[in-house]
Amino acid sequence: MSTNDNNSNAYSDFHLQFIGGEWQKGKDDSINTNTNPYNGDTLVEIQQATKDQLNEAYDAASQAQAEWAKTTPAERAAIMYKVVSILDQRQDEIVDWLIKESGSTRIKAMVEFGATRAITLEAATFPNRVHGEIRSSNTPGKENFIYREPIGVVAVISPWNFPLHLTQRSIAPALALGNAVVLKPASDTPVTGGLLLAKVFEEAGLPKGLLNVVVGSGSEIGDAIVEHKAPSLVSFTGSTSVGKHIGELANGGEYIKQVALELGGNSPFVVLKDADIEQAVKAAAFGKFLHQGQICIAINRVIVEDEIYDDFVERFLAHVKTLNVGDPSKQDTAVGPIINEKQVKSLKEKIAKAQEEGAKMILSGEIEGQVVPPHIFTEVTREMDLSCNEVFGPLVGIIRAKDEDDALSIANDSMYGLSSAVFTADMQKGLRFARGIRAGMTHINDISVNDESNTPFGGEKNSGIGRFNGEWVLEEFTRTHWISMQNEPRQYPF
Ligand code: NAD
Repeated sequence: MSTNDNNSNAYSDFHLQFIGGEWQKGKDDSINTNTNPYNGDTLVEIQQATKDQLNEAYDAASQAQAEWAKTTPAERAAIMYKVVSILDQRQDEIVDWLIKESGSTRIKAMVEFGATRAITLEAATFPNRVHGEIRSSNTPGKENFIYREPIGVVAVISPWNFPLHLTQRSIAPALALGNAVVLKPASDTPVTGGLLLAKVFEEAGLPKGLLNVVVGSGSEIGDAIVEHKAPSLVSFTGSTSVGKHIGELANGGEYIKQVALELGGNSPFVVLKDADIEQAVKAAAFGKFLHQGQICIAINRVIVEDEIYDDFVERFLAHVKTLNVGDPSKQDTAVGPIINEKQVKSLKEKIAKAQEEGAKMILSGEIEGQVVPPHIFTEVTREMDLSCNEVFGPLVGIIRAKDEDDALSIANDSMYGLSSAVFTADMQKGLRFARGIRAGMTHINDISVNDESNTPFGGEKNSGIGRFNGEWVLEEFTRTHWISMQNEPRQYPF
């Protein structure tokens, strides 16, 4: 039992949809049975939403947004500060939900809580950071004004791996900047990915209709949420395959809309021969196995220079063997359960494929229920499945690089370009190497898993379009409007 099940102040009614500021029952025949990935307990059963309820959510959002856009920056900032204070008051309850719904270890749940809090605080500054420009004109008597306005209604579709943070990273900036939101959380995490945040914003006094959470099946509302006329922007975080589909829908249908796509990754973690091997080993273990490797910016390929390869492998193996695996609610568990059986099946296939392809499995273990212990493979090459595709689980391949140039070439040999990392004792070399990597983010002497609310988060290539956080998300969630003023009669040629 979680510590907050006895908390009389704890939020309840997570079996309802949040539409137009009211908690209402879903009207679809299907039910989302939300289970704990560690022990299979049913947490809540949610009657899913219909397309009509989605339309209702969009109507409510469109109506509420018009008034919200007229509010002062201070009013919108105040809601964000209130949200931060409620998050703080309810931290234990929220962390418990992250553990029981998404299989987060306590360590990961705390990391996620911190990131969620940070982006909400950052979003509180956004209303006062939006500014326009005045530009000169080549036309006599004309003045040019560039306004930044709210974009309108934003559709948010979020994944299950960091559900609270990755949802909040879209909805807090969207709302702070005067927009309204219709959110579809992932089916595995309807509470932490949506309904819980709706409770927080409701408690904070966000006016009705500005945040709507619809829990529904992909077949009923998946495409409809993107194709609807109302949203001017679709903010999608998830896999590259679904992201491509969303991009096509958003721009191939009746209504063209902007898309922000935060997609899959295949982060290289490069250890050059002059690196502090012990520190690199610890970083590799944390950056790979945090949340069982189910992070878009998790280390996906460990690339080690030939001279130190054997030494690194030996120390990495010894370190990973010490990690506690199992119950995510325990304080010292490093590796908890995988989100669902489908993902476990895909990891079993990856383990079999790695062996078939000739990788050497130097660490494995019994898969119990949805808990997959760390698996380490050596003598992995850049062509193997483990190197080419996103693993999204606690399996890691270690690739041998001939030298620094070879390491860079392997690091860049991917259709993804999200995050990356390089370890070296020489910072100038590290910087040169980092700049040679085609990715949105590179960390020198640290893991690829980093997110700060004031730095640009996003990827290149098949990892997506757009950037979150700081002023980058300000641009993403506002629209630019050029207005000119002709102060004296203009002379036209005819
Ligand atoms: P997913 O693509 O399967 O699902 C993401 C969301 O899209 C879910 O809410 C899902 O219900 C919804 N969805 C699925 N089909 C849809 C459709 N046809 N129309 C509308 N919505 C649809 O991804 P996932 O399994 O939830 O998450 C894991 C993936 O997300 C990994 O590839 C990971 O790298 C990626 N990810 C990327 C980032 C990033 O910031 N770049 C962050 C986290 C996760």
